[in-house]
Amino acid sequence: MDIDLPYSDDLRRVRALCALRVLDTPQEERFDRLTRLAAATMAVPIALVSLVDEERQWFKSRVGLDAAETPRSISFCTHAVARREMLVVEDALQDARFHANPLVTGAPAIRFYAGQPVFSHDGEAVGTLCIIDTVPRQFDDAARQSLRDFASLVEDELNKGTLIAARVSAEGALQALNIELEKRIDERTASLRDANDTLKREIRQRLSAEATLRANEERIRTIISSSFSAFVSTDANGMVVDWNPSAERTFGWTREQALGQELATLIIPESYREAHRAGMRSFTRQGAGSVINTRIEMPACTRDHGDITVEMTINAFQAGGETFFGAFLHDVSERIKAKLALMQKQQLLDTVLETLDVGVVACSADGALTLFNRAAREFHGLPPQALPSGDWASHYSLFSADGTRLLEERDVPLVRALHGETVKDCAMLIAPKGLNRRCVLASGRRMIGPNGEAMGAVVAMKDITELSESQRKLKLNEQRLRAITENLPALIGQVDKAGNFTFLNSQALRFYGRENAQLIGQPVRQAYSAPEFEKVEQFIKLAMQGKRVSFEDEITVEGRRSYYHASYIPDIDTSGSVNGFYAMAFDITARKCSEIRQRDSEERLRTVTDNLPALISYLDIDLRYRFANAMYKQWYGIDPADMVGKSITDVFPAHFHGQREQQLRRCLEGHTVQLEMEVEHGGESRILHSVYIPHMRDGVVLGAYLLSTDVTAARRHEANLKALANTDTLTGLPNRRSYEAELEAALARSVRNRTGIALMYLDIDRFKQINDTLGHAWGDEVLREFARRLLGAVRKTDTVSRLAGDEFTIILEGVRSPEECAGIGAKIVDAMRPLFSVGDMARQVSSSIGIAWTDSAQPDARELAREADAALYQAKAAGRNQYCLGTKQT
Ligand code: GH3
Ligand code: MG
Repeated sequence: MDIDLPYSDDLRRVRALCALRVLDTPQEERFDRLTRLAAATMAVPIALVSLVDEERQWFKSRVGLDAAETPRSISFCTHAVARREMLVVEDALQDARFHANPLVTGAPAIRFYAGQPVFSHDGEAVGTLCIIDTVPRQFDDAARQSLRDFASLVEDELNKGTLIAARVSAEGALQALNIELEKRIDERTASLRDANDTLKREIRQRLSAEATLRANEERIRTIISSSFSAFVSTDANGMVVDWNPSAERTFGWTREQALGQELATLIIPESYREAHRAGMRSFTRQGAGSVINTRIEMPACTRDHGDITVEMTINAFQAGGETFFGAFLHDVSERIKAKLALMQKQQLLDTVLETLDVGVVACSADGALTLFNRAAREFHGLPPQALPSGDWASHYSLFSADGTRLLEERDVPLVRALHGETVKDCAMLIAPKGLNRRCVLASGRRMIGPNGEAMGAVVAMKDITELSESQRKLKLNEQRLRAITENLPALIGQVDKAGNFTFLNSQALRFYGRENAQLIGQPVRQAYSAPEFEKVEQFIKLAMQGKRVSFEDEITVEGRRSYYHASYIPDIDTSGSVNGFYAMAFDITARKCSEIRQRDSEERLRTVTDNLPALISYLDIDLRYRFANAMYKQWYGIDPADMVGKSITDVFPAHFHGQREQQLRRCLEGHTVQLEMEVEHGGESRILHSVYIPHMRDGVVLGAYLLSTDVTAARRHEANLKALANTDTLTGLPNRRSYEAELEAALARSVRNRTGIALMYLDIDRFKQINDTLGHAWGDEVLREFARRLLGAVRKTDTVSRLAGDEFTIILEGVRSPEECAGIGAKIVDAMRPLFSVGDMARQVSSSIGIAWTDSAQPDARELAREADAALYQAKAAGRNQYCLGTKQT
C-alpha cells in the first residue's frame, strides 16, 4: 500500500510528533476553535485535527465525531501524511482505495474526505487538518486554499510549545554566553590597562627627561638669542659656529650667512685682521691669551661697511676635545654718540640760558646756588663775572609783590621750590642796590634725579615790570569806566573779538542774575537761554562785522518779561579791524507796557466804533483826520486808514465841507455844535445829524470829535406824525386843526394883500339817511367823492377842509365880492348834481352851503365862521341843495 512509509522515515516522523508533546493531552480551545471554524466555513459535519501515531490516529480536536482515535490502518489521514500534500476524496464509494473501508461502509459513513497535512517545525508531517462529509462533494481550488490556511493555523498551534521552549533555552544559552564574554572582556581590559599604565609612566618619564634637557638647551638658547649683546662663537680656526639675533642686528649678517664663515672677514676691519688672526694662533698654541676673560673695546665693521666700536668679553671652552671661543660683543657706538650729544646739549643750554630774557636761578640739593643766568644777573644787578655765593645777597633785596614787605628766606621762591613746593607765577619785587626795582613772576620746582634723588631746585623769573604797569593803568581805566557806567540807568557790557564778556556793569549783572566772575571771560551765549540767544545772535554777528545795530525785543529772565532797547557799537581800532563791541540796553518795559495798553484800548475803541451805525472821526486843530471809523467806508467808500493824516479838504470835495466848515471852526473855538444836513447816499437823499464836540485839555482845544448819525427815518416819522395830526384820514383833506390855522394865515394874507376872503360852510343833505339806507361804508365813499368834487370845483389856492362828519369848509382867498361868492356857491351846487355812484348803486347827493365874505382890514375868524354857519342854517331851512350868502358882510 502506498500509505506505508519506509520504517526509518516513519520512526523519525513519529519521534517528531512525540516531541511536540500533544498526544493524549486534554482537548484545548485553541484547536477546537479552528476545527469549529473549518467545519462551519466548509459546511461539513465533521472536522478533525488528526495526529498520526505509530499505530493509531489520535484526534487532538474533533467536531461531529465521538471516537477519540481510530486504528492507523483504516485511517484516511495516513494517506495524506504519506503524500505530504493535500488528499481529496470526492466520493469514497467511487475510490478504489476507500470504497471498502469500514469507515465508509460503516459509521460514520464517510463519502467525502479532504485532509491537509500539518508539519512539525522540523518539517515532519505529523498529522492533518481534515474535513469529512457523509455525502459526495466537489472540492474546488478556493476550498482547498481555505483548508490549507486553516491547516497552517493548526500547525502554528502545534509547534508553539516547542518553539517557545526552544527560544527560552536559546535565550538562556545566549545569556550564559554573554556573561562569559563580558567576563573575558573585563579580564582583557584589566590586563591592557596595566600594560598601558606602565607604558604611560615610561613615556612620562622619558618626556620629562627630554623636556628638562630641552628646557636647559632652550634656556641657554634663549639667553643667548635674547641677549642684548651679540654672541658669536668660533672654532679654533676662527670659523663661526654660533651667531645670535643681536649679532645679526649689530653686524648686519644673518645667522645663515655667518655660520661657517671666518669671523675676521665678517667683523674685523681689514687693518686689524692680521693682528686678530695672529692672536688666535698664539692662543691655540699656548692655551692662553691676554684678551681672554677681559673686557676690551675695539673697532669692528658691519656688513654695510659701517665702522662701529664694540665692547667685547671673550671666553675659550673645550667640547669633544676641540677648542671653541665664545664672545659677547656690545655695540657702544651709540653710547659714545650720546656722550657727544650730551656735551653739545650742555653747550646749547648754556647759550640759551645766557641769551634768554627769562631769569633762571638754580641751587643744589644742599641749597648752594649753582646757576644765575644773564637775565637773572641783570634782574638782580649782579656783575657778569661770577661772584662767590656769599657776596650775592649784598647786591639786592627781595620784596613781596606790593613792595611793602621784605621776603623772609623761607618765602623766597627758590627756597620754597627746594622744599618741594611747585611755585607758579609768584609775583615779587627784586630791588638791586642802586637800580630800579623789577617786578617778576617766579615759577619753579624741585629737581629730582632719574633715581628719585633730590638734585636741588630751579626757578624761572619773568620780568613783568612793564606788563604790571600797563595792567595797573588798565585797572584804573576799568574803574573809571565802571564808575561811569554804574551810574547810568542802562545795561552796559563789552564783548571781545572771541565773543566773550570783558566788562559788565552791575545793572547788567543784575539783569543776568549772575556774579561778575561767572560771566567775565565767558561767552555771551552762556548768559542766555538757547532761544533768547538765537534772538540776539544775528545782531552780535552784525556788530562783529563792524555794523552799529539797534533793536527792541523782549526777554524773559527768571519768569519776568522785560522789554529792552539795545544798541551794539562795534569796537573798531585804528587799523579798521573789529575788536569786539560795546552793548548798551535800556529797560523799556514801562513804556512798552503803556504802548501795549494804549494799543489795546485803541483796538477796543476801534472795534466799538466800527460796529456803531454812525460816522465817527477825530480832527486835529489843523482839520486833519486822526481817526475815522469803518462807517466812512460804507458811506463814502473811503478807507479810514487812508484818511488818517489827511486834511478834510484832501478827503472830501469842496461842496462837501463848505457847509460844515463854519460849524467846525465854531467847534474848534470850544463850542459843541449840532447840525443837520441832507446828503446823497446810495442814490437817495438822507438826513445826517452831526455833533461836533471840542477836545479840550487845560482850556485849550486840541481837536474835534465828529459824530454823525443817519436820522432820515426819524425825521420822516416825525413828518408823518405831523401830517397825520393835520389831515383827515378819510378824505385826505386838512382837518379842523389845520383848517383853523390855515384860516388865520389866510386872513392875515388877505389883510396883507388887501383882497377879500370868503369862507364856505358845507353840510351834506340828509346824510344820515344815506348811512342808514346804504350803510356806513357807502356813506364813507360818498364823503370821499364829495371831497373830490369840491376840490374840482375850486382853485388850487383855495383850501378845502373837512371839519367833522358831513361838514366841510372852503377858504377862498382873493375873492373880490359877495357876487363872486355866489358864483362859486352855484358852481359847487352844480358839481354835486351828477349821481353819486358806488359799485352798482347810484344816488342823488346834495349839499347845503353857507357863505361868509369879508374884506375887512381886521377880519375876525370866529365872526366869519359864525356868519358862514348861520348862512348854512338858512340854506338848510330854505330847502337844502342850495347856497346862502351871509347877510352881514364885514
Ligand atoms: P341834514 O340834511 O339836516 O343835514 O340831515 P342829515 O341827516 O345830514 O343830518 P346831520 O347833518 O346832522 O347828520 C350828519 C350824520 O353824518 C350823522 C352821522 O351819522 C353821519 N356821519 C358823521 N360822520 C360820518 C362819517 O365819517 N361817515 C359816515 N358814513 N357817516 C358819518
Ligand atoms: Mg348833513
